[in-house]
Amino acid sequence: MRERIERACDASHRNPTEISLLAVSKTQPADALMAAYNSGQRAFGENYLQEAEGKIDALPKDCEWHFIGPIQSNKTRTIAERFDWVHSVDRLKIARRLSEQRPPSAPPLKICLQVNISGEASKSGVEPDQLAALYQAVAALPQLQVMGLMSLPRPTDDPELQRQGFRQLRELRDNICPQAPVLSMGMSQDLEAAVAEGSTLLRIGTALFGPRASNQTAQDSRA
Ligand SMILES: *Cc1c(COP(=O)(O)O)cnc(C)c1O
Repeated sequence: MRERIERACDASHRNPTEISLLAVSKTQPADALMAAYNSGQRAFGENYLQEAEGKIDALPKDCEWHFIGPIQSNKTRTIAERFDWVHSVDRLKIARRLSEQRPPSAPPLKICLQVNISGEASKSGVEPDQLAALYQAVAALPQLQVMGLMSLPRPTDDPELQRQGFRQLRELRDNICPQAPVLSMGMSQDLEAAVAEGSTLLRIGTALFGPRASNQTAQDSRA
């Protein structure tokens, strides 16, 4: 996987050290995560809360846990208590709850705001014209730290279409929140396009772990 990322970086004259790799481990058993851990992986992304909790308990304590699925408001407490990052914040109500429910002893929860760029796969994500207001409001919450933006485009094989959406996210970051520079974009199918457009965090599932048994697509089920 690192080789594929390095090739993508070479092609777009980027430094691989600017890009972190989130291993998206939804539906994968704890054994598979442990194998990735043993080869050096520490950051894991999960979409389903109940499933994630078992793996958080099973893996060593120095893992970093990223919640990347849709968030229901009755699940925010567990997310705030057990995760280090949340990539799928698209509403102020959810952000407020995460901030209130983050244990005071823990460092602020790291947040990416999910943006509904054109061609988004789901209805999730804040509309681009609402992003500035959401960013201002979320950045003011005490127990959250806004790190950047996230997008989940509709799958397409067309590299130019892939790049368009990612470019839009990068421009939103540059215009609205340059102080929160993380761009959480790029998955197994489109990581090259994402790297070319400035991704700083790739969320990779199938290209790391192989196909998911239940054939679940990106973010297709409620937390
Ligand atoms: C499943 C998922 C991924 C990983 O998708 P792959 O195509 O398996 O790499 C990335 N991001 C989100 C939000 C997902 O739900």
